[in-house]
Amino acid sequence: MLVAILSDIHGNRHALEAVLEDVAKLEPTETWCLGDVVGYGADPNACVELVRRHCELTLAGNHDLAVTGELPLDEFSRGAALAAQWTQEVIEPDALDWLSQLRPQGERAGLGLYHASPRDPVWEYVVSALLAELCLDAQPQRLSLVGHSHVALSFWRPEGEVASGERRYGGDILDVAPGEWLLNPGSVGQPRDGDPRAAWLLLDTERWSAAWMRSPYDIKGAQTAIREARLPDSLAERLQYGQ
Ligand code: ZN
Repeated sequence: MLVAILSDIHGNRHALEAVLEDVAKLEPTETWCLGDVVGYGADPNACVELVRRHCELTLAGNHDLAVTGELPLDEFSRGAALAAQWTQEVIEPDALDWLSQLRPQGERAGLGLYHASPRDPVWEYVVSALLAELCLDAQPQRLSLVGHSHVALSFWRPEGEVASGERRYGGDILDVAPGEWLLNPGSVGQPRDGDPRAAWLLLDTERWSAAWMRSPYDIKGAQTAIREARLPDSLAERLQYGQ
């Protein structure tokens, strides 16, 4: 099966549309979303609609759970809490209902799916080999997909060895057949790894190859939408730096 994996869209319709266009060209069997469909960006309703239409499976992220009221806003940074509040004001009832039934973890085709990590599907940022080691111990599957950190990453533990991690760049292709893995596609709507282009992952579960992808998109359009919504300006500014 060929799967396109998207994560951390964060209400950025401009980025999501560009990614879905690139995904469609490769005709994957399925498209999955690892959560945070909303929060930060100015187009939560459009993003929910697009994800519902294009993704066979979607997880809940911490920002989705903030908007649905399942997580208290005081657990978030000021900018994130303001954006979640704004999203609560504009989200359509039908979109909110759909977000409310999402869960932060799942399983498909023998793969572990977690918004954040196998140990803590909602909050843990897996950004070090040490944490990855603990997560690989916790995951029942050989390979898991995680989002949440907004950084494209791979962690690998060959049999009998310790885990190591690497940043992943657009165009990287890895053989993920041997050993245990944690893969992070990076973020569609708010990349924080220095590359402002929208990030996603293409996974072939027959050949066991993983390809990290980047899609250029209309960053200015997304920034204008954030500013017109009167969301914190920092949320617009960071998009152009991928930070
Ligand atoms: Zn996120």
